[in-house]
Amino acid sequence: MSQHYFDTESNRYKSFELPGAKPHYNPDKPGQVEHIFLDLNLDIPNKSYYGTCIINLTPIRNGLESLVLDAVNLNIESVQVDGNPQQFEYDGKQLWIYLNLLTEINKQIAIAIAYSAEKPQRGLYFIEADKYYPNKPTQVWTQGEDEDSRFWFPCFDYPGQLSTSEIRLRVPKPLIAISNGELIATDEDGDYKIYHWLQKQVHPTYLMTLAVGDFAEIRDEWNGIPVTYYVEKGREEDAKRSMGKTPQMIEFLSEKYGYPYPFPKYAQVCVDDFIFGGMENTSTTLLTDRCLLDARAALDNRNTESLVVHELAHQWFGDLVVIKHWSHAWIKEGMASYSEVMWTEREYGAEEAAYYRLLEARSYLAEDSGRYRRPMVTHVYREAIELYDRHIYEKGSCVYHMMRAELGEELFWKAIQTFVRDNAHNTVETVDLLRAIEKATGRNLLFLFDQYVYRGGHPDFKVVYSWDGDSKLVKVTVTQTQAVSGNNGSSNSLFDLKIPIGFGYVKGEDKGDKVESSTLSSPSPLSTLSPQFEPGAILQRVLEEHYQTADSVEIPTEILVQYDLPDSEILADVLTQRKGRKVSILTPQRQVKAELIEMVERNAQYELQRMQKLSDRNNEAMQDLATILDLPDLPHRIEGYDISHIQGSNAVASQVVFIDGLPAKQHYRHYKIKNPTVTVGHSDDFASLAEVIQRRFRKYGEDPQLPREGNPDWPDLIMIDGGKGQLSSVVAVLQEMNLLEDLRVVSLAKRREEIFLPGESQPLKTDPEQSGVQLLRRLRDEAHRFAVSFHRQQRSDKLKRSRLDEIPGLGHHRQKQLLGHFRSVDYIRQATPAQIAEVPGIGSRLAQEIYDYFHP
Ligand SMILES: [Zn+2]
Repeated sequence: MSQHYFDTESNRYKSFELPGAKPHYNPDKPGQVEHIFLDLNLDIPNKSYYGTCIINLTPIRNGLESLVLDAVNLNIESVQVDGNPQQFEYDGKQLWIYLNLLTEINKQIAIAIAYSAEKPQRGLYFIEADKYYPNKPTQVWTQGEDEDSRFWFPCFDYPGQLSTSEIRLRVPKPLIAISNGELIATDEDGDYKIYHWLQKQVHPTYLMTLAVGDFAEIRDEWNGIPVTYYVEKGREEDAKRSMGKTPQMIEFLSEKYGYPYPFPKYAQVCVDDFIFGGMENTSTTLLTDRCLLDARAALDNRNTESLVVHELAHQWFGDLVVIKHWSHAWIKEGMASYSEVMWTEREYGAEEAAYYRLLEARSYLAEDSGRYRRPMVTHVYREAIELYDRHIYEKGSCVYHMMRAELGEELFWKAIQTFVRDNAHNTVETVDLLRAIEKATGRNLLFLFDQYVYRGGHPDFKVVYSWDGDSKLVKVTVTQTQAVSGNNGSSNSLFDLKIPIGFGYVKGEDKGDKVESSTLSSPSPLSTLSPQFEPGAILQRVLEEHYQTADSVEIPTEILVQYDLPDSEILADVLTQRKGRKVSILTPQRQVKAELIEMVERNAQYELQRMQKLSDRNNEAMQDLATILDLPDLPHRIEGYDISHIQGSNAVASQVVFIDGLPAKQHYRHYKIKNPTVTVGHSDDFASLAEVIQRRFRKYGEDPQLPREGNPDWPDLIMIDGGKGQLSSVVAVLQEMNLLEDLRVVSLAKRREEIFLPGESQPLKTDPEQSGVQLLRRLRDEAHRFAVSFHRQQRSDKLKRSRLDEIPGLGHHRQKQLLGHFRSVDYIRQATPAQIAEVPGIGSRLAQEIYDYFHP
C-alpha cells in the first residue's frame, strides 16, 4: 500500500526513500498514558543524572502480561508496579516489563522505574566550558523531537500518546530549572535547589523539556499570562530586542486561530549550542542563543522574528493540536511556516509577505528539483527526522496559502478556527483538517490535497505567446510541462487549477513609459494596437484560443479576468459543457480574488518594462551585428542550428529563431537526423548539419519563385554552431541548392567565440564582449539548450515507449489503437495479419508490415 502514495511515474526525480527506508506506524496501544512524573537529580560535573520515572497507565485491554517501553542507553535499576517489584528485561533500546498481575480494563496502574544515565548521546545535553571554549556557560537542556525523549527517560515514545506531565529537578545553586507548565513548588536543599513543574494539559513525550542554567529572567505578559524570556546573564537588553514582540504575536495568533493562547505561561529559553533554531516544547520554547540580537543586528530583526513567531505558532499547531504520527508533520510545520508569512503581512505589509512566500516557494522548488520529490504525507522513511524538509515546511506553507486562495479570506480562517477548536488537546491526521474545512465551509478540498499533499510535484508552466498582426489575434498557450507526453493516461499528472491571465496594451504610438495595463509578452506587437481596442474583447479571444486545445481537466471551474468579456456567458457555457462541471467567468471585486488579478497585472507590468529594456538592448546588438557582418539591414530574423547526440545515438538538430533579438519559440524546430551514416558510435556533425539545412530550405531550392525578402519565414541570417568545417559543409549544401547567393550564413566557434564567414580562412576580428557577438552567443546557447532538451526527451521516450515505434508508418494514433485492442505488445506479436487488420484504421497492408516486423 505504501507504494501507492509514491510518484512512481516520474523517473526524472530522485527518490526520497533512502536505502533502508520502510513503512512506520504507531505501535499498538496497551492503554492510555495518563501522567508522567520525572523526579531527577543532576550531577553536572559527571554529565549524569539519576531518579525515577513514574507512568500512570489505564489499560485498554484485559490480561496483558507485559509492557514495552522505549528507553535508550539508560541504566534501569528497578521497576515497580503499584509499589511491587516486577521482572524486566532491557536491551539498551527497549524495556520489557513482565507484569505480576495481568492488566484489567480501566484499572489504572503506576509504573515506577528507577534509573540513571551518564553522558547521554541524545535527548538531554550537558553544556560546559572546556579548554577550547573557556567562556561557555554551564547549561543542561533537552531536545525530544522526533524520537529522542527515550534517550532521557523511559516512555511510550510516539506522538499518539498524550498525557499530563510533571518534572521535579534538583540542581546546584545558582542554576535554575525551567520546564513545561507551571512552577508549583521550589525547595531549598543545602547547595541545591529543587524546582517542581506541572503541565496540566495533555501533550506528547516529544514536547517534554528541561532547561537548566544561570539565566537572567525577563518578565513580560499577555492578558495576565506570564511571558518570560530566559537568557544568559548580561544579555537582558538583547532578549527584549529579540523576543519583545511576543505578546503582540500571542494576541495576533490567538485571534487568527480563534483560540486564546492555551497554556498557563509562555517561556522562551535561549540556550547555548542548541542543535536546532528553536523547539516548541509545550509552553516552554527553547531557542538557539544565536537568535539573540545586539543593537546593530536588530536593525534587521526578521530572522529572529520569524523564528519566534514560528515556534509560538506551534503552541497551537503541534502542542495544542498534536499530530498523531510524524507522517502528518506538515500540518504543524506548514502552518508554523505560514504563520511567518502572516506575521510578515501584519508587520510589514502585503508586498513583503508575498515576497516571503515567494522565497518559501523557491526553497521548496530547489529541493524538489535538486534533492528529491515526495508527497508531503508519507510514512516510509528511515528516520522520522528525515521528513523535516522543505516539503513539509515551505511547500506546506504554500499549500495553506492555496487553501486560503481557494476558500477566500473569511472561510479559510473559519476552517482553521474550527480545526483548532475541534481538535484542541487531541491528536490529528491530515484527514481531520479536511473534515474541519468541510464542517466549517461545506467545501471539499480533497482534490487539492490529492494533488499537493498526498502526491509529489507541482505544475510547471510553459507559456507561449504569439501575435498575428494581420488578424490582430493573440495566441497564448499555457502548457503544464510536467505532464510528460507518451505517459499513458498522462492527464493524471496534470494539475487542476486556475490560471489567471492578465492582459494589457500600450496606448497608441506612444509606447514610451505609458504602460496602461499588463501583458505576458513583448511590447512590440502590442504597440500596434489602436487606442480604441477593447481589452475585454482581446481577453475573450485569448481565452477562447487558450482553452480551445486544453484538456478538460485543464479547464478550471473559475476563471478570473481583469475586464468584462463581451460574450462571457457564451464562453462559460462552452467551457461548462467541455468540462462537465459548471465553469464561471468572473471579474472579481472581492478582496482576495481582486488581489490575485492585481498581482497578475503587476507581474505583467514588470514583465512589460523588462521587455522594453530588453528590446532596447537587442536593437543595439542587431545594429552592432549588422555592422560586423556588413549586412544591408538589421537581422530581424536569425536562425541558429546545433546538433546534439550522445555517441551518435539519436542525433538531433535544433533550429532556434530569434526575432528582433528575442527567442521566438513558436518557430523552434527539432530535426531527427535521418542520415544512415550517423549511427551509434559514428557521428558526423558535418553531415548532420548539411542534412538539416537541406531539409529546412529544400522548398526554396526547388522553387526559385518562392518569395524571400519580406517573407517572415525567410531568415536574414543563419548561424551554425561550430568552426570552419561545419560552415563549409553547410555552404556546400546551400551552393547545391543555389541558395548561397541569397542566404547569409556564419558560424560561431566555441573556443574563442570567433565568427567565421563562408570562403574566409580567418575569423572576423571581433571582441567577444561586443553586443553583436553576444547576441550570436545567446542564439548559440539557446540552440544548444533546445537541442539537448529534446535529446533528453527523445532518449527517455525511447526507454518508455514500446517497440511499436520502430515500425515504419505506424504513428502514435495507430499505436494507441493497436495497444487499445491488444492490450500489450506481446499480444500484437502473437497475432496473425488478419487479426491485426481487424483493428480500426490499420488495414491489411499495414497489418502485414506489422506482422513482418515481429516475424523477420
Ligand atoms: Zn517548526
